[in-house]
Amino acid sequence: MRAKPIYKGIIMLSDRFSRTISYLRISVTERCNFRCVYCMPAEGIALAPRAELLSFEEIVRVVRVGAKLGLSKIRLTGGEPTVRRDLPELVGMIKAIRGINEIAMTTNGARLSELAEPLKKAGLSRINISLDTLRPERNRELTRRDFLPAVLKGVDEALAAGFTPLKFNAVVLRGINDDELGDLLRFAHQRNSQMRFIEFMPMGVARKDERNRTVTMREMLERLKARFDLVPEETGNANDPARGWVCRRTGARVGFITSMSDHFCGSCSRMRLTAEGGLRPCLHQDAEVDLKTVLRSGGDVAEVEDAFRRAANLKWSGHQMNAFVPIYSRREMVRIGG
Ligand code: SAM
Ligand code: SF4
Repeated sequence: MRAKPIYKGIIMLSDRFSRTISYLRISVTERCNFRCVYCMPAEGIALAPRAELLSFEEIVRVVRVGAKLGLSKIRLTGGEPTVRRDLPELVGMIKAIRGINEIAMTTNGARLSELAEPLKKAGLSRINISLDTLRPERNRELTRRDFLPAVLKGVDEALAAGFTPLKFNAVVLRGINDDELGDLLRFAHQRNSQMRFIEFMPMGVARKDERNRTVTMREMLERLKARFDLVPEETGNANDPARGWVCRRTGARVGFITSMSDHFCGSCSRMRLTAEGGLRPCLHQDAEVDLKTVLRSGGDVAEVEDAFRRAANLKWSGHQMNAFVPIYSRREMVRIGG
């Protein structure tokens, strides 16, 4: 039998493929103030009643047990995490949990101008901002909303609050924003921040016939490499899903999230908690352990721990989705927590 990873006397959470799980992505809401075309239908999604969402106290119970099993990093996501009321309070509650040493958030940025400072004070460590285009008209088409000025203001406020470097995420769509890679890269580098380009994934609302919208890292590099003098990064964080490249002239970093052309499942350390309390082993695997029922039926620490171990055991070795194999989650991205 293979050895289990042990740290400070605890058998850490690991899966059937000896991957240690140290990172939990928590969706705090399914709601969103945007309607990005690759993530949500124009009319939005049917929302679960409020009472079905995990409360802050329930989320904290989960994280506390997770931390005992070796979780050390949390990411708040959604839906749009900043539309969940009193988010800084949740950050403060998670920050107080022993063993959690990083709390990050992925956001569309539109509410950051009011929230960046309270989030920083509450203990949020890092922010990733989704920004697919800098052109107002295109932004309106992609998000089906008109928030670009608010997002840009949010970027400034986040930097002013001390969230440096920021990471900007752009989903690259063929024929829609793939002519903006250089502009986006420059925008991030001018703010001493990092640009990350995401290969579009045809899942949920992003239909099968949209598959040819995916632009691979290879294609993106063909456009950027010479212009920005990019070379592969020599040292990187093994748990970072982004493939790192560095601009030789400036030392600035750019990342590519290659879920489609070269998945990074071999080093996956993640698990997800949906807003309704499902513990999900993988973004692309429609399997969940119902943690909410465990919590609401008075489940004790051992039962929550058991739910974590069951979810870890469900984890596949890797997802099969690529440009030719259209296996994609039936759930919209917005309902899983990207
Ligand atoms: N609302 C927040 C935001 O937009 O940053 C957090 C949730 S969003 C679902 C998380 C990330 O998933 C975003 O960076 C978004 O661009 C990305 N995303 C959504 N749908 C996607 C798709 N079909 N393919 C690739 N990335 C996607
Ligand atoms: Fe909302 Fe983020 Fe999905 Fe856009 S990508 S619709 S901002 S959850």
